[in-house]
Amino acid sequence: MINTTSWQPDTCGCVLYYEWNDALPPASRVTTPVDQVTLADGTVKTTVKCAAHQAAATTTALHTMVRGENQGKNRALNAALQSLPRLQTTVNGRAELVEGVGINAVFDANRTLTFVVTGIDLLPAEQSVLDAAVAAQYQPAVVR
Ligand SMILES: [Zn+2]
Repeated sequence: MINTTSWQPDTCGCVLYYEWNDALPPASRVTTPVDQVTLADGTVKTTVKCAAHQAAATTTALHTMVRGENQGKNRALNAALQSLPRLQTTVNGRAELVEGVGINAVFDANRTLTFVVTGIDLLPAEQSVLDAAVAAQYQPAVVR
């Protein structure tokens, strides 16, 4: 049976749809970007392109663009945390930001990945380490 999945990334306002066939074993399943899906109740859902991604010419191009930004943001966030261990603590075996510290990773209107670190004063050397860690994972990017 063909199943559908929707995805609303945390990096923009797009709403994307995928189809996949659950008759195939998990290792062989392919998720295919589609422009429109029909839900079990007959409701038709159509891709929503946010203002930043209006230029995407095809559904596949849109998915590639949005996924690239989203995965880049995730890699950069992970690299940022790895590069500055003092931003993190371990709570019940899980890594978490130190209380009071925030990292907001968003794309600006020019699709530059913008990291804003709050609640902690970074030393100049730490700022450099963070800049490099983020830039190695996604460009263009800035850290504030
Ligand atoms: Zn978008």
